[in-house]
Amino acid sequence: MTYSESEERQALRAAVAELGAKYGPDYYVRKAKAGEKTDELWQEAGRLGYLGVNVPEEYGGGGGGIGDLAAVCEELAAAGCPLLLMVVSPAICATIIARSGTDEQRKHWLPRFADGSVKMAFAITEPDAGSNAHRITTTARRDGDGWMLNGQKTFISGVDEADAVLFVARSHDQKGNLRPSLFILPTDAPGFTWTPIDMEIVSPERQFICHLDDVRLPYDALVGDEDGGLLQLFAGLNPERIMASAMGAGIGRLALDKAIGYAKDRQVFKTPIGAHQGIAHPLATGKIELELARLMQQKAAALYDAGDDMGAGEAANMAKYATAEAAIHIVDTAIQTHGGNGLTSEYGVGMLAGVVRLMRIAPVSREMILNFVAQHSLGLPKSY
Ligand SMILES: Cc1cc2nc3c(=O)[nH]c(=O)nc-3n(C[C@H](O)[C@H](O)[C@H](O)COP(=O)(O)OP(=O)(O)OC[C@H]3O[C@@H](n4cnc5c(N)ncnc54)[C@H](O)[C@@H]3O)c2cc1C
Repeated sequence: MTYSESEERQALRAAVAELGAKYGPDYYVRKAKAGEKTDELWQEAGRLGYLGVNVPEEYGGGGGGIGDLAAVCEELAAAGCPLLLMVVSPAICATIIARSGTDEQRKHWLPRFADGSVKMAFAITEPDAGSNAHRITTTARRDGDGWMLNGQKTFISGVDEADAVLFVARSHDQKGNLRPSLFILPTDAPGFTWTPIDMEIVSPERQFICHLDDVRLPYDALVGDEDGGLLQLFAGLNPERIMASAMGAGIGRLALDKAIGYAKDRQVFKTPIGAHQGIAHPLATGKIELELARLMQQKAAALYDAGDDMGAGEAANMAKYATAEAAIHIVDTAIQTHGGNGLTSEYGVGMLAGVVRLMRIAPVSREMILNFVAQHSLGLPKSY
C-alpha cells in the first residue's frame, strides 16, 4: 500500500493543471453563459492524450486506468473547468466498449475516444423510473436482422454535442426474459429526437429529454452479448462514480483555494477575517473532509484498476458520497467567507453552488448510496 501517487500520475496532474490554467474559470463561465461549448479545451485535452489516458495503448490511448482519467478530471475541475462529459464519454462509454464491445466496436470507437475526437453520451435515466433503473421501459425488439427501439430518457447530458449515445434498453435474452442491454445509437438516427431541459446550473453541457420512436439499429449496435447486459452496464458505473468523485474534489479544491485567498486578504476589523476561528475552522474542516474523500476516491480507482470490481463498487459509492458532501460544505463555506462577494459573478464562488449540489443527486443520489451501504456493507435488510 502506498499513500503517494506514482511520479507518472503526479506529472500528469501537473501537465493537466497547466492546461486547465491556460483556460481557467473565466473561459468556462463565459462559454457556459453564452450557451457555447468548451470545444477548444476538449480538443486540446484530446490532442494531448489526456482524454484517452485510460484507453488501451493498442487503440492509441495512454494505457492507464480510471485513476489516471480521474486525475485529469480533478485537475481540470480544480482549474475551474469541470467537464461533465468526461464523466460520461471517456469514463462510462469508453470503459464499457473496451471491456464488453465487439472487436469492430473497439476498433471503431476506441481510437476516437483516445484522441477525444468523438463524444458519446450515456442514457439510462427515465422519467418514470428515476433512481429505480429496474423500472426502465425503453425497449429494444428484434426487427428483422436488427433492432427497433422505443422509449424515453431524461436528463441526458451532452446529446447535442455527442456523435452517439450509449442507450440502456430492455431486450429479451435467449430465455425470453427482459434484461437491460446496451446499444450504440448515432445521434442522427431517424426517429431519435431530443429537447433541452432548462437547468439552474452554470455549465456548457446541457441536459435533454430524448425520444426514441421506432428507431431502427443494425444488429451490431448491441454492445457485448444479449445476455450480459447488467454486468456490462456495471463495468461503466464504478468509473462513473469515481469520476463524479474526482470532479467534486476538483471543485472543492477550487472553492477552498478561493476562500483561503480571500480570508487572508479581507480585513474588516483589525486582522484578516481568516484569523477569526468562525472563518478558519469551517475551512479547516473542509480541507479534512476533502482529503478523506480524495483518499477514498484513490482507493476506489486503485481497486478498480486492479480488477477488484466488488471492492471498487463499495469504495466508489463511498467516495462519491464523501466527495459530494465535502464539496457542498466547502462551496457553502467559501460563499460565507466571501460575504456578499460570495454571490457576485466576479468572484466565481456562488456559481459553483449549482454544480456541487448536483453531485448529491447524480449520477446516483446520496440516499441510494446510503441504501447500498446499509444493505451491502452493513448487511441490513433491503429498505426499498
Ligand atoms: C445535471 C444532470 C445531469 C445528468 N446526466 C445524466 C446522464 O447523462 N445520463 C443519465 O442517464 N442520467 C443523467 N442524470 C440523471 C440522474 O442520474 C438522476 O437525476 C438521478 O439518478 C436521480 O434520479 P431522479 O432525478 O429521477 O430522482 P428520483 O429517483 O425521483 O429521486 C428523488 C429523490 O428521492 C430519493 N429516493 C428515491 N428512491 C429512494 C429510496 N428508495 N430511498 C431513499 N430515497 C429515495 C432520491 O435519493 C432523491 O433524493 C442527470 C441528472 C442531472 C440533474
